[in-house]
Amino acid sequence: MAKTFHLEIIAADRVFYQGECEHLVITAIDGLMGILPGHEPLVTCLPTGELKYMTNGVWHYAAISEGFIQVLPDKSVILADSCELPEEIDIKRAEEAKERAQEQLRQKQSIKEYYQTQAALNRAMNRLKISQKHFK
Ligand code: ATP
Repeated sequence: MAKTFHLEIIAADRVFYQGECEHLVITAIDGLMGILPGHEPLVTCLPTGELKYMTNGVWHYAAISEGFIQVLPDKSVILADSCELPEEIDIKRAEEAKERAQEQLRQKQSIKEYYQTQAALNRAMNRLKISQKHFK
């Protein structure tokens, strides 16, 4: 059995990662999912959360916004709105986005606006969490 599989992480504005990977762990809707070479095919959606992938024995962490993943035995492809390494996260920007969303949630909003604001709050909180956890 191969020791690696090909991983592509495509964000809306850039190719975040393209290369070999030994192990991928995603946060799926029902919890953490580990993917190793030879995994059975599947497609699932990815909520805003954390992912980590191992290359050459080293784990790399990232904050990901909503997307999808296709898993095949020799390849996984992630398409997501955004993806950042912990060290790329601008903490001040995320704090401002969090405060902005919290303020909007105190105002009267349509259902659509409410869901958009809640999603923005999730993205900001996720960025803050991953930056604090992995960027020392
Ligand atoms: P903001 O309101 O600050 O723009 P957002 O959650 O609406 O935040 P997104 O639409 O998710 O932003 O992302 C737009 C682009 O900005 C993406 O390229 C994303 O990687 C980047 N980005 C957003 N917030 C941050 C941040 N705090 N640090 C670094 N990059 C960020």
